[in-house]
Amino acid sequence: MRVLITGGAGFIGSHLAEEYLKKGDEVYIIDDLSTGTLNNIKHLQENEVFKNRIFIHIDTILSTSPLLELTGTCDVVFHLAAAVGVRYILKNPMKSIKINIQGTENVLKTCAKFKKNLLITSSSEVYGKHLHAPLLETDNIIYGPSSKFRWSYAASKLMDEFSALAYFRTVGLKTIIARLFNTVGPRQTGAYGMVIPRFIQQALSNEPITVYGSGTQSRTFTYVKDVVQALTALMENGAAPGEVFNIGGTEEITILDLAEKIIKKTGSQSSIKMIPYEEAFEKDFEDMMRRVPGIEKIKELTGFEPKTNLDTILEYVIDDMKRY
Ligand code: UDP
Repeated sequence: MRVLITGGAGFIGSHLAEEYLKKGDEVYIIDDLSTGTLNNIKHLQENEVFKNRIFIHIDTILSTSPLLELTGTCDVVFHLAAAVGVRYILKNPMKSIKINIQGTENVLKTCAKFKKNLLITSSSEVYGKHLHAPLLETDNIIYGPSSKFRWSYAASKLMDEFSALAYFRTVGLKTIIARLFNTVGPRQTGAYGMVIPRFIQQALSNEPITVYGSGTQSRTFTYVKDVVQALTALMENGAAPGEVFNIGGTEEITILDLAEKIIKKTGSQSSIKMIPYEEAFEKDFEDMMRRVPGIEKIKELTGFEPKTNLDTILEYVIDDMKRY
């Protein structure tokens, strides 16, 4: 099989590419290297078994010609190319909205033209400001005002979902929507805000761990290889198109407890530094205080459940960061 992955040089995309290469498939990547990097796929390009089956096209999904060419020759498409990370989105608001809205429209239009099955990665951000748990795919959505730019990301991802569902309903495009909750693992960078690589890097260099706000905000974390299993299981399932699925871990932890856990696990001398949101971000920043997925829907359809608990995820990432 030929698999096209937009954003395949990104953190999650590169793990997905590896999975399909291991299965014996050919992997085609379109990536503009805005947040992705060739380092993420170097080990695949240098691997004797994989190197003749991985092809990278460095371009943006905003230009249609590589999309047309590659979608035409591939069997399935995973659309992962998007703006990522709260910090990146706040710094690049126009670019982020454009890539999410216009880029996704290009992918949808091209997949519809060639009648190719498509999986679009959305985000738990679309749920907005809920405090209840678990978050279900059928829940209402609550956003802050448009002056608070964080919500532009949520709104653009939600538009992607509406567009994908519209293509499914009107022209029968087989599109699956995966709402990814905080995904972590080797090769994820802390440069765009992601908390686990940031905390581990700070702990390993004995610098203060920067906890934003009160630290009582909570998250669940999913190991990237578990996420990849969920994505491939959905793509293989004939009943998944036209549906939205949460993919995430269920072990909730506050950010302050996470900081303490990481200090303990790394044996670090780091202290914890509480930083008000106004100092960490621009004045209009608003955090999501809680984010726990309900995963019954994907479990019922595919049997998927995350296998890697938080302690193990942290051990893998600490080990990876120590080596690299
Ligand atoms: N966070 C933090 N310190 C950091 C980076 C992040 O306290 O150095 C917090 C952030 O405010 C949020 C949580 O960790 O409450 C998760 O942040 P991340 O950017 O990883 O993902 P999000 O869930 O916000 O998209």
